[in-house]
Amino acid sequence: MKRYGIFGGTFNPIHSGHLMIAEFLREESNLDKILFIPTGSPPHKDLNVSAIDRFNMVKKATENNDKFEISDIETKRINLSYTVDTIKELKNILKDIKLYFLIGLDTLFELKTWKKIDELSKEIEFIVALRPNYINIDEINKEILFLKNNYETEIKIVQTPQLEISSTSLRKRIVEGKSVKYLIPDEVIEYIEENNLYKYDD
Ligand code: ATP
Repeated sequence: MKRYGIFGGTFNPIHSGHLMIAEFLREESNLDKILFIPTGSPPHKDLNVSAIDRFNMVKKATENNDKFEISDIETKRINLSYTVDTIKELKNILKDIKLYFLIGLDTLFELKTWKKIDELSKEIEFIVALRPNYINIDEINKEILFLKNNYETEIKIVQTPQLEISSTSLRKRIVEGKSVKYLIPDEVIEYIEENNLYKYDD
């Protein structure tokens, strides 16, 4: 049975941290492909860059890796989308493929606030990449146990190399006129420049 990693995110913009953990988790967890799913209108974030621009940037960043794919399942929706709905829809399309949801460690601590996390936990297992600044293993194990006991969430932790960057810090660098070379792929930097994105802080 084929195994796909689902990598959802705002990707505002996509950066080397995202790409590095996707490739690393793909290999370490024996996944056949990684499916990047940029969010449409995220419930918690007020974005000043459109879903189309974020989708286009992920497309440019992923098209030179034949194990990476991108889905417009969330960006093409008009209404708010929740992960549980996306996963149910995907499982109908990708029958006979086992799906895993990839997240960074900061997202592990947000999972309990996700809409219908109990229902989502029945649909998919999570793979967590250890992310910088979260090195307290007791705290991590406590969270995993809490999710397991309350929502039957299945979680696997994978130690990845660590790149201490976030989209927020990169948007800030761009506003300040600083270089983001090597932190964001060249094709994405070109797209940002051509489309005048992130000129002002949000
Ligand atoms: P923002 O700063 O805008 O919140 P972000 O850089 O955290 O953005 P998202 O698009 O929100 O990026 O993240 C998508 C997923 O990638 C999340 O699960 C997040 O934990 C993970 N992630 C983001 N940056 C890193 C990184 N440097 N290392 C490991 N995982 C990361």
